Amino acid sequence: MTSLFAKYQGIASALGAVVAAGGRNPFAVVIEKPVSSTVGIIEGRHTLLFGTNNYLGLSQSERAIKAAQDAAGACGVGTTGSRIANGTQSLHRRLEHKIAAFFHRRDAMVFSTGYQANLGMISALAGKDDYLLLDADSHASIYDGSRLSSAQVIRFRHNDPDDLYKRIKRLDAPDSAKLVVVEGIYSMTGNVAPVKEFAAVKKETGAYLLVDEAHSFGVLGEHGRGAAEADGVEADVDFVVGTFSKSLGTVGGYCVSDHPELELVRLNCRPYMFTASLPPEIIAATAAALEEMQERPELRLRLMENAARLHAGFVRIGLNASKQVSPVIAVTLETVEQAIPMWNRLLELGVYVNLSLPPATPDSRPLLRCSVMATHTPQQIDDAIEIFRQAAQETGATAAPAPLVAS
Ligand code: PMP
Repeated sequence: MTSLFAKYQGIASALGAVVAAGGRNPFAVVIEKPVSSTVGIIEGRHTLLFGTNNYLGLSQSERAIKAAQDAAGACGVGTTGSRIANGTQSLHRRLEHKIAAFFHRRDAMVFSTGYQANLGMISALAGKDDYLLLDADSHASIYDGSRLSSAQVIRFRHNDPDDLYKRIKRLDAPDSAKLVVVEGIYSMTGNVAPVKEFAAVKKETGAYLLVDEAHSFGVLGEHGRGAAEADGVEADVDFVVGTFSKSLGTVGGYCVSDHPELELVRLNCRPYMFTASLPPEIIAATAAALEEMQERPELRLRLMENAARLHAGFVRIGLNASKQVSPVIAVTLETVEQAIPMWNRLLELGVYVNLSLPPATPDSRPLLRCSVMATHTPQQIDDAIEIFRQAAQETGATAAPAPLVAS
């Protein structure tokens, strides 16, 4: 009889090759102790963290930590139930009101993760007679949400509103509902979506627009409401999805909308209904982090200055960095044989970044994906650039000749 694990042979040999090429499993890194938002102990060494998505450094917010401690003391450490049963405490509703108010929207739904927010919203909104139009570089949670829905799925070229427009027109289905899904900042490349142009297509074609602001919430826009705010088109966005696990430094996801039916979506959304709600300490920490984010807009300014500094440094030392400057900066290498030793050397020299290997990368080339924080000091950034230079030199890793397409 066939083993259930027969399908793992391919993974085992691919992982074996990665470990053999670099001496360790890059997908099993342990942060033995977070020392601060920017430094962690890895393999016993102080290591600069440049791959944690903790854009504002709020995972270490004293105010959020205190709020979590107080909430656990007052309400316990878990809700033991679904949002539609015993899993909604006053804290959950208060956080939903806070998020909705932050976005100037009618209502918000809070999910247990951002993954579930996409899974839940996309599958609950798009039914079998509807069309889902997804950017080709969409996050796994968006693709998985489309699988859970019974809608017809159409992919359009990454960040290409003209291609989206053509595909909607080609459908020739004027009476079917259509949901377009894009991300504010793309998680692997740091590409920023042209939300204004997507909003124009949405208006022209009568489609709905959902923007996943996972990496742009707290980062883009005058108030940190994301790419749609930065582009001045928030009114054209029907649903904003996001996560607490990046800028706010906690865990959880949300969707905000002005559509009054959001209240009904709560009763038709499996990833919202069939799982336990977030525990009180996380809800309280998230609310405190959101307040801190609003009160400290300078964090956003520092974040963008830091992103520009790291990006300029990579360009200076001849690496092929993302085209656009955002807190996600990917260094594209030509081959996996270069990327694995380079990633390992970076870690040995004291810098942690994310290693992304094809086929999980957008253009089939390996990426050393970095994320910048507001709390990185200029010295830490300069040290990281110097370590990148040294690691590239020692391992013979060269920049990929063609720039990463960012259009
Ligand atoms: N959307 C995007 C674009 C993401 O990058 C991520 C996380 N990497 C998510 C959603 C899911 O967020 P969470 O970590 O809260 O599940």
